[in-house]
Amino acid sequence: RGGQAQKEIPFAQPGSLTKVYAIASGKGGVGKSSVTVNLAAAMAKQGLKIGIVDADIYGHSVPAMLGVGDTRPTQVEDMIMPVPTPLTREYAGELSVISIGMLKPRRDQVVAWRGPMLDRALVQMLSDVYWGDLDALFLDLPPGTGDIAISLGQHLPNAEVVVVTTPQEAAAEVAERAGTMASMMHQRVVGVVENMSFLPCPHCAEEGREHRLEVFGSGGGARVAATLSGRFGYDVPVLGEIPLDLDLREGGDSGRPIVTTAPGSASAAALEKVAATL
Ligand code: ADP
Repeated sequence: RGGQAQKEIPFAQPGSLTKVYAIASGKGGVGKSSVTVNLAAAMAKQGLKIGIVDADIYGHSVPAMLGVGDTRPTQVEDMIMPVPTPLTREYAGELSVISIGMLKPRRDQVVAWRGPMLDRALVQMLSDVYWGDLDALFLDLPPGTGDIAISLGQHLPNAEVVVVTTPQEAAAEVAERAGTMASMMHQRVVGVVENMSFLPCPHCAEEGREHRLEVFGSGGGARVAATLSGRFGYDVPVLGEIPLDLDLREGGDSGRPIVTTAPGSASAAALEKVAATL
């Protein structure tokens, strides 16, 4: 082809020991990126070597959630080095990230990503980045059933998909579609995470009572799990229900995932439990 030889995607090779998890959702704002960084951080805390590919073109919020929002990756010969997060210093393991935003010439540049360009960017993040021997690679997908999901299915059919939804009907319906899309690309949907499941009423907690305020209704996670199980003929479980939590949001904004800042909290415990089942 005259140009550079296409590098292979190490994670797609037979015998690759890296588990690949794609985190998908039907729509934006349900906490897909927050779940991704916390699952990855929980595993790194356990001593594993973890990478995150932020493929969410609309959000690319993962680097900021891990405290490396302004960092550009360095290049060594023809390889891009993934950006190590500050958490790597605190954790037994390692956590590095590469973001589609980091591949843009300028941070503030607005790019109208089209299918082929997106495909190239995804392949670049998988094959031109020096990941080394990872225990697990997380991909934060854009919401919906777009081009990236198709590319991913083509390049990494072995990826296992985790679907994130809120309890809300409208979120669940589109989440089912995202899960079905993954299955059409022959990927296995390993489970559903229901985020923003409820708000523990702080006043009742003060009085020693547990009272859940169902801000976004209830049942979305169970509904997605039941629909996908019925459709695929294998069990797609609800892996966890993550409460609404001010500290979780603040942890994201300040670049320190809640599994690090408040490991004893209900939301961190729920996220760590999900990570342990993956
Ligand atoms: P997505 O990746 O689905 O677009 P984000 O992870 O970016 O969603 O989350 C959207 C916003 O909601 C962020 O500001 C995030 O901090 C906040 N958020 C996500 N999950 C929770 C939660 N369980 N409790 C409180 N805030 C949350």
